[in-house]
Amino acid sequence: MDRIFLSPPDVGPVERQYLLDAFDSGWIAPTGPDLDAFEQEVAQRIGWSGAVGLTTATAGLHLALRELGVGPGDDVFVSSFTFVAAVNTVTYCGGRPVLIDSDASSWNMDPDLLECALSEAATNGRLPSAVVVVDLFGQCADYDRITALCAEFEVPVLEDAAESMGSTYRGRPAGTLGDIGVFSFNGNKVMTTSGGGMLVVDDVEVAERIRFLATQAREPADHYEHTTVGFNYRLSNLLAAVGRGQLTRLDELAKQRCEINRAYRRAFDRVEGLHFMPVPEWSGWNGWLTCVYFDDASRRDAVRAAMAEANIESRALWKPMHLQPLYADVPVYERGVSTSLFETGLCLPSGSGLTDAQLDRVISTFCAADS
Ligand SMILES: *Cc1c(COP(=O)(O)O)cnc(C)c1O
Repeated sequence: MDRIFLSPPDVGPVERQYLLDAFDSGWIAPTGPDLDAFEQEVAQRIGWSGAVGLTTATAGLHLALRELGVGPGDDVFVSSFTFVAAVNTVTYCGGRPVLIDSDASSWNMDPDLLECALSEAATNGRLPSAVVVVDLFGQCADYDRITALCAEFEVPVLEDAAESMGSTYRGRPAGTLGDIGVFSFNGNKVMTTSGGGMLVVDDVEVAERIRFLATQAREPADHYEHTTVGFNYRLSNLLAAVGRGQLTRLDELAKQRCEINRAYRRAFDRVEGLHFMPVPEWSGWNGWLTCVYFDDASRRDAVRAAMAEANIESRALWKPMHLQPLYADVPVYERGVSTSLFETGLCLPSGSGLTDAQLDRVISTFCAADS
């Protein structure tokens, strides 16, 4: 039977046309008008003035941390329950990550633990240079509480919105909830450019400086003139064209993922000891991945094995960074929430292109394994 993927790209004639138009325009090497337009369209959508198209969100997080002044020896607080990129970029800057666990009500950074960590850091005279808040599985964290705390301690907030393009927090767009935001357009996200990312900031001068750093820090001159170490992090014009096509469909793509989530909820309504990722009242979620967890880890393992057997891709939730061998030695504030979710949770196929027949196959495989 054909393989059902967790979250494959959903592209079609709209994106194809944008891509071919860019190709035919001759703007191949490597920036061009589609990149400028893509940046403007994203900025317009989220209502901020600056947007810089980049090769990846990882590149965006790296440049954002640099912009916030993170350097050797600095502490940076980061969500522990996440993909490794958010933490690695702290390491790129020579900083020390301090990991903060999630709360059970949103699966995102626990504001109580953050408060505790900030107070201790203030007492020790070692406040972090930044707090990196991840919008996990596309759902925004509780920014009213988090940004109030960070303002009190005068620490900037970097929003890792890699997964949350199209989501909202109390009606405000994801990406605009901290001082700088970073989106990913990797192939597994709600919208994709194949691979790509974007840094957003409500300050055109900062955006211009980031663009400069992302383009090898080439000074304006006839020859190659350099006074700063730069990076080669710019998104290509052709990929930006794909992104422009996806952006016209973003609301439809997110809606479709939320429909799939509703279908799973209906199907598993009566299953005891099975729970879905909570969606708090303030969250306007893009539906990126449907995530469930069991009271009993052995049931999760049985379902996952049956899915693999049936050629269906499913995956455990993120393994928290404080459990990773790579970050075993960094400080962590945790209360077991993400550890438990890692042991009992599962991501289900959630792609916006999932057909009804594929969804039925996932649900029947799940139910047969969990009966
Ligand atoms: C996907 C992802 C990233 C990295 O995005 P890339 O564009 O692949 O670099 C970073 N953080 C989180 C939370 C992600 O899910």
